[in-house]
Amino acid sequence: MTADQKIGIVIDEDFALKNNPPYPHPIFLSYENPLRIKVILEYFEKINLWEDKRIVKLEPKLINEELLKLAHTKYYIDTVKRLSTFGSGILDEEVFITKDTFSLAKKAVGGTIEAIEKVIKKEVSQSIALVRPPGHHALREKGSGLCIFNNIATTILYLRKEIRYNKKIAIVDIDDHFGDGLVQYFYDDPNVLYFSIHEFDFLENDIGFITELGEGEGLGKNINFPIPAGITDNDFLIFLDLLEPILKDYNPDLIIVAMGFDMYFADPIGNCFLTSISYNKFAEKILSIAEELCEGKLAFVLEGGYSLIGLPFCVQAVISGLLNKKYEQPHFEKITLSSESKMEEILQIKSKLEDLLKNCWKVLK
Ligand SMILES: [Zn+2]
Repeated sequence: MTADQKIGIVIDEDFALKNNPPYPHPIFLSYENPLRIKVILEYFEKINLWEDKRIVKLEPKLINEELLKLAHTKYYIDTVKRLSTFGSGILDEEVFITKDTFSLAKKAVGGTIEAIEKVIKKEVSQSIALVRPPGHHALREKGSGLCIFNNIATTILYLRKEIRYNKKIAIVDIDDHFGDGLVQYFYDDPNVLYFSIHEFDFLENDIGFITELGEGEGLGKNINFPIPAGITDNDFLIFLDLLEPILKDYNPDLIIVAMGFDMYFADPIGNCFLTSISYNKFAEKILSIAEELCEGKLAFVLEGGYSLIGLPFCVQAVISGLLNKKYEQPHFEKITLSSESKMEEILQIKSKLEDLLKNCWKVLK
């Protein structure tokens, strides 16, 4: 935290109003809806967040659809546009289309660009993009897992092309799910380190294995840290013991957090037991790492997280962490959610990962 710290928060009313899924609860798809942002913005008003002089409201950058081609095929972009014009459609079993999907997903990319570009240009110290639909599952040629366009991947490719930004970037993905879309773009790229902690179905052999380490020049720069379902606040931050030395070895110019809140205990999709305290402590820690390595250049981009009760507190917890302000978690979180420790399992996974990575990172030797 610096004396003249400014935190840019990218918002747009459309994220709180549009792309309402045409399905009733409790269908899975319907969790990705405008209320996710609406509850956050209403809470910001309630706590007078915008009166804090360190908070700067930012608007999504206006982009043209050509820019989307940096990360997606023309056929796929046209398909999203066509179905949106038509008014509805299903792109995948977990991807729905409404009349607003194309424009809102494009705006989510613009919001992510604004948040990250402002940090790179040091116009704000850190930033948070409160955008939807999320992006980390979106593939080059298709939407997936509630995601339409890959917000972070498109932004990185845009920065390289438009402002010749070719420095090293680290992405830390804390969403409950593995960011299979993001991985696709940067698997052999030495200038993007991807580190994901995600809930893993060890019985069904899920995706996001520890053995997926990247390839070619990107070897060792794709790091999957799968965790068992049911982790608690006591278990969550263990991954930082592996991430921190690797980040210090890698020495990125920018850290992007793919900020999913679906490990929250009340999330309807994830199966973990975190409270907002975990996100507060994570934000504090990743900020201190960013300050040590890259002048505090750190941007958070919203991915998943579907608990309408929890989302406002999770976001506030991140903001308080960045501002080094005491965070008081809401009373309703102060219950014993699970007393079963997953620590031993997580430490075993960490040790296996360290073994796999030690030829790639001198700090692990
Ligand atoms: Zn997720």
